[in-house]
Amino acid sequence: MYDVAIIGAGPGGIFSAYELTKERYDLKIVVLESGNPLAKRKCPIDGEKIKSCIGCKTCAIMNGFGGAGAFSDGKYNITNEFGGTLHEYIGEKKATELMEYVDKINLEMGGEGTKLYTTANSKIKTLCLQNGLHLLEASVRHLGTDINYVVLENMFKVLEDKVEFRFLTPAQSVEKIDGGYKIVTPDGEICAEKCIISAGRSGSKWMESVCRDMEIPTTSNRVDIGVRVELPMEIFAHLTDELYESKIVYRTETYEDLVRTFCMNPKGAVVNENTNGIVTVNGHSYEDPAKQTKNTNFALLVSKHFSYPFKDSNEYGESIARLSNMLGGGVMVQRFGDLIRGKRSTEKRLAECTVRPTLNATPGDLSLVIPKRILDSIIEMVYRLDKIAPGTTNDDTLLYGVEVKFYNMEVEIDKNLETRHKGLFVIGDCSGITHSLSHASASGVCVARHILEQK
Ligand SMILES: Cc1cc2nc3c(=O)[nH]c(=O)nc-3n(C[C@H](O)[C@H](O)[C@H](O)COP(=O)(O)OP(=O)(O)OC[C@H]3O[C@@H](n4cnc5c(N)ncnc54)[C@H](O)[C@@H]3O)c2cc1C
Repeated sequence: MYDVAIIGAGPGGIFSAYELTKERYDLKIVVLESGNPLAKRKCPIDGEKIKSCIGCKTCAIMNGFGGAGAFSDGKYNITNEFGGTLHEYIGEKKATELMEYVDKINLEMGGEGTKLYTTANSKIKTLCLQNGLHLLEASVRHLGTDINYVVLENMFKVLEDKVEFRFLTPAQSVEKIDGGYKIVTPDGEICAEKCIISAGRSGSKWMESVCRDMEIPTTSNRVDIGVRVELPMEIFAHLTDELYESKIVYRTETYEDLVRTFCMNPKGAVVNENTNGIVTVNGHSYEDPAKQTKNTNFALLVSKHFSYPFKDSNEYGESIARLSNMLGGGVMVQRFGDLIRGKRSTEKRLAECTVRPTLNATPGDLSLVIPKRILDSIIEMVYRLDKIAPGTTNDDTLLYGVEVKFYNMEVEIDKNLETRHKGLFVIGDCSGITHSLSHASASGVCVARHILEQK
């Protein structure tokens, strides 16, 4: 019988383990992880022999120590304005304190010297307001892909002697037993007094089955749909140099819909993302100058909330992504000038384009894929951004589609992130209340402290 079993070794699971073991060496803790240890996480795509996803048994990008964020840009946003709704459960002050605490630990683990960007007292905020745009307030610690990896390596070194890690061990089911929980894995059963589930987005389908089996209520009604914009990095340099990542929200005049910028990557590259065989678009950037490009990319997203009787918001997003895959064989790219003139982009026009695409996508027509209302809102936002970053509406600005942000269903949990079953906690992205590294990590610390109070 373990004191605590943690399912998932992403930021949520790692920070739970870290906080539980920081001073309590006596606790018996096991971490079950369906992926590999960090050092063994290698995606087989090499761009030469293997060019696209071959559907490995465990995805090196999404699964393993470090979770979905292991090879990410490592942007830790310290804010309650985006990245999740943890503050609605534990309060704004506590949520902020926990995110700041996570930042402090990251610095101790190798992040010292990385830059903290902040919107506080920024002139850009005023510029946005003068143009009907709203800059969300945040501090952003940008670890960068390289340092993020070092932080994870150090975290593992600290934890490996205190916690029992079982890699390549997916939890198959969770069952309530006398005095705790039984977790079934392919290698046998594990019993623990408390169980923390932090299975992330990749574990969302499995999480659904746990909620069904254990009669834990859930809700699901949101998906974000949009495009990734790519343009010369000079156009957004005054924003990215000062803020690195600016989250800007605009309420459109036509529909009063909200459009927002998301995941800004200065000098970055546009990349494919494969979710359950559906190819969507995303972006990366690197600290290492050798890997940097001449372009900046960011997403423009419109949130879609559904009401009764439609329940499957993710299926709606998947259908739109499938349509783009059907027409473009994957991700589609279109020049902004072609889009507004109602023309399909072609190989020829793309070859003449002054912005060099960083992703090899199929030139096409996004208006055949993205619903009119969403596309109209995106176009309106591009014109609005041009007021604060002139050049955004250049004909050669590239739009890749589609970018879809799927949301996990929201699991019913209380202010301690505990389900209706005492001792069973659901944290991080699989709870549906976090969508970011800092919120997921903070939720891990929050649960660990609650458990420690009871021990
Ligand atoms: C390419 C990319 C870039 C990103 N960049 C950023 C960024 O810069 N900033 C930011 O804030 N966020 C970013 N994110 C999002 C961020 O990575 C997630 O919000 C965060 O990792 C969530 O942490 P988590 O612990 O909840 O889940 P995850 O990190 O997804 O970890 C969950 C872990 O659980 C394991 N697991 C799943 N099911 C089971 C099971 N049944 N049994 C055992 N183990 C299981 C998985 O293998 C995984 O390792 C990015 C995501 C991606 C994919």
